[in-house]
Amino acid sequence: MITPNRVGAQPTDPRSPSGRWQQLWREAVTDPLELLRLLGLENQAERLLPVRDTGFATRVPRGYIARMRPGDPADPLLLQVLPVAAELLESPGFVTDAVGDMAARSAHGVLQKYQGRALLIATGSCAVNCRFCFRRHFPYADETAAANRWQAAIAAVVADAGVSEVILSGGDPLSLSTPKLTELTDGLAAAPHVRRLRIHTRLPVVLPERVDAALQGWLGSLSQQKVLVLHVNHPNELDGATAEACRRLREAGVTLLNQSVLLRGVNDAADVLSELSERLLEQGVLPYYLHQLDRVQGVAHFEVDDERALALVETLRERLPGYLVPRLVREIPGEASKSPV
Ligand SMILES: *Cc1c(COP(=O)(O)O)cnc(C)c1O
Ligand code: SF4
Repeated sequence: MITPNRVGAQPTDPRSPSGRWQQLWREAVTDPLELLRLLGLENQAERLLPVRDTGFATRVPRGYIARMRPGDPADPLLLQVLPVAAELLESPGFVTDAVGDMAARSAHGVLQKYQGRALLIATGSCAVNCRFCFRRHFPYADETAAANRWQAAIAAVVADAGVSEVILSGGDPLSLSTPKLTELTDGLAAAPHVRRLRIHTRLPVVLPERVDAALQGWLGSLSQQKVLVLHVNHPNELDGATAEACRRLREAGVTLLNQSVLLRGVNDAADVLSELSERLLEQGVLPYYLHQLDRVQGVAHFEVDDERALALVETLRERLPGYLVPRLVREIPGEASKSPV
């Protein structure tokens, strides 16, 4: 299991010049009671927080909190980040490695499950800790690809001509400094078979300031095609700041997609999901996946059953153009791809 300090740690030098986003990172709220106070919900503390230690730290950037509705204990952004007692319940079928990650490890911090794609667990750090996260139990401390200047990961990719796409995941890969990311892409110059670099990140949403000039410059300089998969679950997560971050990413030649997780009480309503698709498109992002939750310990209270999930997507299909309907999938260990529900 991830220890609270480990996940919250900022892995880069706080004195480095790219400064502003790292400053905002450090100012994130890490005390659930402070989070409630900022929203005028201190009267909910008793009900929402019978436990302080769920083994997975609280971490929420202040800009993300600013998008929550004050006074609303059911706010869909708050529910994604506030620790609650339900996380401590043991539920049958909910395990610590639900997606078989440990079995797919091909080198230090590298997972190869699907043909042509190598996924690098770049780092264990995230700017936000999402309560439903399927990697809340992953032993990041021993397993990040960025360790030792990415040596093992680069060697694995260089040696395998079958890899045409390198996927940066984590944790959140954009929590690494831009110089650290540049180290990786410099190393990938020795692997001309890699045609695409894909980045799975929540940072442009939860800390849009991360998309600064240095990041834009790095992305713009890459020879590979660039795909960035955002992770937005609710339309309220998108505002002017995220629109600006997306504009900068597109300007750097990046194709933008989004994946969501279907979460009970957060986005399990057709109106919410269709508004999400519309808002994403307004910011230049196409919906990609809608994930059924990975069944890891501590997230059972977020689960939506398949029948309901299918009905929701059917409603989207009736209401929206086809390109705004995400694919409903789940990850089944051992399968050759994500599996349609
Ligand atoms: C999800 C995943 C991918 C990417 O799958 P796509 O269907 O291409 O989005 C690649 N590697 C691993 C290990 C994954 O878990
Ligand atoms: S869902 Fe993404 S951003 Fe949230 S904690 Fe998990 S890896 Fe980090």
